[in-house]
Amino acid sequence: MPDTAIKQSHHLPVISVADAKRRGLLSRGMLARLGLSTDAAPVAVLQKEDGTEIPLFDPNHVKAASGKAEPATPTAKERPALPTRDENGELPRISARRADALGLFSREALTRSYYEPTDEPIAYYLRKDGTRVELYEKATCRRLPMPCIRCGNEVRYRAKLCRTCYERELAEKRRAGDARRAAYYGRKPQEVLFFDLELTGVYDHDEVLSITIINGLGETVLDTLVRPLKKRRWPRTEKIHGITPNMVQNAPTMTELTPKLVDVFAGAKHLIAFGTSTDYSHLRRIYKTRTEQGRLRAKLIDCAAEFSSYIHEHGIDLVHRSLSDAMAHFSLAWEGEAHTSAAGTQACRLVFHTLFPHFYESEVT
Ligand SMILES: [Zn+2]
Repeated sequence: MPDTAIKQSHHLPVISVADAKRRGLLSRGMLARLGLSTDAAPVAVLQKEDGTEIPLFDPNHVKAASGKAEPATPTAKERPALPTRDENGELPRISARRADALGLFSREALTRSYYEPTDEPIAYYLRKDGTRVELYEKATCRRLPMPCIRCGNEVRYRAKLCRTCYERELAEKRRAGDARRAAYYGRKPQEVLFFDLELTGVYDHDEVLSITIINGLGETVLDTLVRPLKKRRWPRTEKIHGITPNMVQNAPTMTELTPKLVDVFAGAKHLIAFGTSTDYSHLRRIYKTRTEQGRLRAKLIDCAAEFSSYIHEHGIDLVHRSLSDAMAHFSLAWEGEAHTSAAGTQACRLVFHTLFPHFYESEVT
């Protein structure tokens, strides 16, 4: 893929290849090979021997390209049979056009896309000047380390960045995250509610079996079993939460609990749970309008997502990030049975308070 060369630049600085490398500037061709594109104007140009110029772009203003950036390789189905060596073991000579059709690449083209041949060439073509260009099948090539999209000098480590750039970015995120967590929110603990639901299963057609709501002081606001309307048995989740069909026989239904829940949520500023998406899909049904549902959603804080951000930003090696993992990580003690919704709600409250230690305080000025 050739770089898009422009004939003349009116105002852009002409820089050397070494300079471009040092500044991590990327040409259109390099962007395409990295699967990136940009809307930004070029910041400098490279001058080729024939006087044409290659525009260079700032790597900080790039985005993932929408289309596929790599040279297209025909799929095995639509590809004609590859040529084979003749009886003397000579490589077959093919035209450049045929090489394209067969999805064969020169070593040079492969290197530009960060591939390296690991196998013998399978054909060659002759350039106009008579030089022989050997061709390789991409499927047999090894992927070479790709450069960092920020600095362009180092090899990628994570998230398309080299280790230095990645760690610099993570440190910035950490500073912002730590400042956000350490902020003084001045909330009233009575208006901050922690909740947990137990369900018959994880799907939308599943039903609520229990609801626990406590406030920021740890006081119980609501703790009730719920009788499902359709489900009669839930053997799989029963093993986890221990709620049997018998236990909910005389419990109120969600419909019966709705006025109470609407009232409780109306008085809350925040509703916090460890993992909120499934719970939200059940709780929103107590409201009829999208506006009311949106208001509920706006109050939700996912303690699991907050814990996960904290772990990520601090570079802590913790693969599993369940509520139990969070409790263990912060050396917090459980009250009661770990899998009951009452204990789970209290645990979520403890983890949240550890992450946001000044949630109920106002900053002294
Ligand atoms: Zn870098």
